[in-house]
Amino acid sequence: MTKLNSTDTPKVKPLRIGVLSRGPKLYSTRRLVEAIRSRGHEATVIDALRCYMNIATDRPQIHYKGEVLDGFDAVIPRIGASITFYGTAVLRQFEMMGVFPVNESVAISRSRDKLRSLQLLSRKGIGMPVTGFAHAPDDVPDMISMVGGAPMVIKLLEGTQGIGVVLAETKKAAESVIEAFMGLNANILVQEFIHEAGGADIRCFVVGGRVIAAMKRQALDGEFRSNLHRGGSASLVKLTPIERETAVKAAKIMGLNVAGVDLLRAERGPMVIEVNSSPGLEGIESATGKDVASIIVRFIEKNAKPHNTRTKGKG
Ligand code: ADP
Ligand code: MG
Repeated sequence: MTKLNSTDTPKVKPLRIGVLSRGPKLYSTRRLVEAIRSRGHEATVIDALRCYMNIATDRPQIHYKGEVLDGFDAVIPRIGASITFYGTAVLRQFEMMGVFPVNESVAISRSRDKLRSLQLLSRKGIGMPVTGFAHAPDDVPDMISMVGGAPMVIKLLEGTQGIGVVLAETKKAAESVIEAFMGLNANILVQEFIHEAGGADIRCFVVGGRVIAAMKRQALDGEFRSNLHRGGSASLVKLTPIERETAVKAAKIMGLNVAGVDLLRAERGPMVIEVNSSPGLEGIESATGKDVASIIVRFIEKNAKPHNTRTKGKG
């Protein structure tokens, strides 16, 4: 009889897990692949843009570079904002095949639209900055007063990494920025500026209904956007129970199993500004020293059953 080694070898059957990512060399992708393999599973990085499929069949399939992609137990979607449309269509096809998605396609589409996300969250009483949107330039001055006037933040609905987020210090500045965006047919929202956040936000990393890691991101001097891509720096932070609860609730409302929930510390309490469906691993793992990738893989081990989704690709 062969002796089993008694290290951290998981006692679950080996799974075939696909990482839906365009960048096999990206930190998050590499770490996920590493964690999948170290827990005894099989990892395949799949470029969503190279997947093609025949949808007019009762046996859904995905073809990939000339071959049929088959036998996957789970997929981890890491779909970049620029390929949301095609990427979620590919993910939906996996869902129709019964493959367990770490995050479902509908939830990802939802989270990519800031306005839609905030509407869903406000319906359930989650705290957020006063937020408005308008279509007609004629309505802009009144909308600005409605959200409390300048200084205020103006955001592109589908921006990421701080690009497309502008602080307007005066009403005049706000009007001209909004006019410029509207002239380009860009969809925007306007938001109360949470001054007391002091250029910092809190990233809560939620997996399976628990905050498993959190960090504070502080913007550079003279900058209010704390995104690490904008030069922000990350440090450890201790969450209050209400912050923890808000983050978990926000992820649940969005229908995301894995989410990066971003909060501002405002006088009125924690305010959610964004729920990210493909939160990066590099910043959070280095700030907290936690093996976030393995926590995601363990979540898959517990939940990867065929057709274990809310929508079964019907969303
Ligand atoms: P993105 O999707 O581009 O990251 P966010 O809405 O997360 O856009 O905004 C980027 C950053 O700008 C946030 O991390 C936060 O530091 C800052 N910020 C955003 N909204 C506000 C606000 N209403 N008040 C104060 N700071 C804000
Ligand atoms: Mg953000």
